Amino acid sequence: MSEGTSKKRILTGDRPTGRLHLGHYVGSLRNRVRLQDEYECFFIIADLHTLTTRNAKEDIEEIADNAREMVLDYLACGIDPDRTRIYLQSAIPEVSELNLIFEMLVSVPRLQRIPSLKEMARNAHLNEMPFGLLGYPVLQSADILMPRAHLVPVGKDNEAHVEITREIARRFNHLYGDVFPVPDVLIGEVPTLVGTDGASKMSKSLNNTILLSDDAKTVEKKVRGMYTDPKRVRADIPGTVEGNPVFIYHDIFNSNKAEVEDLAQRYRNGSVGDVEVKEKLAIALNAFLDPIRERRETYASDSGYVDQVLYEGTLHIRNEARETIMAVRKAMGLSGIWNKISRKAEKRRKKQTE
Ligand code: ATP
Ligand code: MG
Repeated sequence: MSEGTSKKRILTGDRPTGRLHLGHYVGSLRNRVRLQDEYECFFIIADLHTLTTRNAKEDIEEIADNAREMVLDYLACGIDPDRTRIYLQSAIPEVSELNLIFEMLVSVPRLQRIPSLKEMARNAHLNEMPFGLLGYPVLQSADILMPRAHLVPVGKDNEAHVEITREIARRFNHLYGDVFPVPDVLIGEVPTLVGTDGASKMSKSLNNTILLSDDAKTVEKKVRGMYTDPKRVRADIPGTVEGNPVFIYHDIFNSNKAEVEDLAQRYRNGSVGDVEVKEKLAIALNAFLDPIRERRETYASDSGYVDQVLYEGTLHIRNEARETIMAVRKAMGLSGIWNKISRKAEKRRKKQTE
């Protein structure tokens, strides 16, 4: 594995709540694939973050398989495991220690103003905001700053979280000395992909996704059921293209731009049916997904491969985590406390046994 120590670093990741979808791809994954030469990359499978909204025993039992599927999704999209470290958050205890230290550097009202957290609580049908969910961006800051990352490619909903990270890094450096870079956020070309139901965000929790691992038939079915212009009850009624999820997907995923332009024009003047527009979209999506499916199949057939990728990545980041925590404790003077006490105690102990 190449070291690439002089390169700047990327940290990003996903919660292992299910397989990855088109929203992950355009929001973050595409940037990760593009930048893996330029940066040293770390991808976290954020299973502790999963606990913020799903902490039942049955949910936790699903994590290992979800994590495997996600690693397969990464590899299928072109992430190279020889260059990128993919690791499991819960196997790095230092993350929790850093989280605790960071919790002192941000106020409760500051976190309460973040809209994505309220939305997550709503989507998870939680009546009250759990303490841990309010701390979601703080834990995320611990993830980002653990390998001292410079760049964080995420979707729009995560922008405010990275802002918190920047504030925490600045605050830490100001109080204790320069330990952390202040990382930049990188939002995908499509900041937020709409769901198939027209809801503002495609999300694993909302059942409105097209998965990177869906087969061709499933994609056809999901596209047939997609939300379009509701005013259009007949094909000869002029329709609205702007903000229409079917056309948003065409614009992003259909490489035949002339076809998209033609469909949009005919849609606007009422000379094409939704059925044809959707059929063409399914074809375009399947063409986009075919190479991803093929690579996925290849990696999946190699038994234990995915586990090994995750295992090696996790062992590697453990060293990074120890180094960072040591630097943090030293900068804060925390390590000095125990050193003082233990030195004196050991001296006395020695005397006693002499
Ligand atoms: P969950 O519903 O469990 O929160 P999710 O689908 O929102 O799942 P996350 O794991 O929270 O996915 O997000 C992982 C990354 O993918 C984040 O950087 C997030 O911004 C990005 N992302 C997720 N959904 C979209 C979307 N619809 N459009 C753009 N980016 C997205
Ligand atoms: Mg989310």
